[in-house]
Amino acid sequence: MSGFPAQRFTGGDVMRAAVDAIAVASKVAEISWTRTAGRDAVRMAASGRFAEIVRIARARSPYYRRLWRALPDRPLSLRELPVVTKRDLMANFDDWATERQIDRRGVERFLADRSHIGADYLGRFVVWKSSGSSGEPGIYVQDRDALSTYDALLIVQLLSLQVVARYAWSLAANGGRAALVAATGDHFASIASWQRVCRGMPWPSARAFSVMEPLPALVEKLNRFAPSFLASYPTTLAALAGEQRSRRLRISPTCIWSGGEHLSDPARESIEAAFRAIVINEYGASECMSIAFSCPRGALHVNADWVMLEPVDRDYRPTPPGERSHTVLLTNLANRVQPIIRYDLGDSITASERACRCGSALPVIRAEGRRDDVLVLKAHDGSIVRLSPLALTTVVEDATTCHPFQLLQTAPDCIAVRLCARDPRSRREGLRSATRALHAYLAHQSLGNVRVVADDTPPLPDARSGKLREVVYHSSS
Ligand SMILES: [Zn+2]
Repeated sequence: MSGFPAQRFTGGDVMRAAVDAIAVASKVAEISWTRTAGRDAVRMAASGRFAEIVRIARARSPYYRRLWRALPDRPLSLRELPVVTKRDLMANFDDWATERQIDRRGVERFLADRSHIGADYLGRFVVWKSSGSSGEPGIYVQDRDALSTYDALLIVQLLSLQVVARYAWSLAANGGRAALVAATGDHFASIASWQRVCRGMPWPSARAFSVMEPLPALVEKLNRFAPSFLASYPTTLAALAGEQRSRRLRISPTCIWSGGEHLSDPARESIEAAFRAIVINEYGASECMSIAFSCPRGALHVNADWVMLEPVDRDYRPTPPGERSHTVLLTNLANRVQPIIRYDLGDSITASERACRCGSALPVIRAEGRRDDVLVLKAHDGSIVRLSPLALTTVVEDATTCHPFQLLQTAPDCIAVRLCARDPRSRREGLRSATRALHAYLAHQSLGNVRVVADDTPPLPDARSGKLREVVYHSSS
């Protein structure tokens, strides 16, 4: 796929864009005011929105009404509510929504047509789906009000980093072109929200490129397009940074957006250095586009005025600050169409109690990102040993700064290591360090018999979502 064409605009699009712009501007003002007022103001804003979303869910979602029927008839606190999973919500799709005209059959008909990506469903909703690489695919519906909140959260972040003025300058100087490199072939959140912005706003020139494109072809297209704003997944940005360093890629973006996967500190630093541009890392999910943003100090701050996050263990008991959670419960205060309330997101996070030196009133977390596979290996005596992906990736991250990397279990007693590096020599060294560290770690787990082999293939993204999983169990790829 060569990329989506720049959009054409009608009078209706421009009118709608003006209305949306006013909604976003007023939200930007409100969010900035609340956050400047401090932690208590953020907490109060969240608790007011939480009470409202619970009231709406109770009044208009048959699913939540049923689920909460035994709960007392008074304002409810977060911890009183039961946890919901993707499976629960998808199994009750029609009853989950607070708008009765949303039904699974209609949404699926809409999604079946890929020319609809980012278009309005029933004239006022935006729909996207998750890839289902970690199980069942999800389908998410939101209205323009929710989307204007996500847009406002991004703008507040850009304002706080003071890149808006520089971007405005590059807009005037060279057209301010914006490029998204993502999985463009289906209704995924990043491409759907991008296409919506392109359809709705007289954006100077925005273009989406497919992440599945071979790197040399992508580099050539980006050179020709010369974007001022570049958005993609961290693994793709890291590959493009390598191309920029080797001067095959020659672009000068003012600002780079990274999202969809975990961005490590070394990866962020190397991308910023290669492009001499600021990287904004957004932690989001299909269930909530904007959960947290990185600050200039690289810390991830939760949008706690619009999102509630509860790090929990496997029995959904709270995980204390400083410890990695098994999963996290997400409550999205922006989407009233499909309320996401105490939803098991599946990500592992670590909450921090310490305030960040950037001065932000928003709480800091470390997000470990998507849940990779657990490896199931056979020891010398035939017993089975399960290894956590977080442990395995930590071993590799401690041994080498090469990024991205991927570990694949190819047999009951074999793990293949793939990684990218600046040049062949660093790659060889990275592979040697990673395999040595993995061997030592495996021996410590009574898995001294397990072979660790270097694989010449670069890390491969998931064929459907375009995203990279770092630890993959029994893959044929
Ligand atoms: Zn900070």
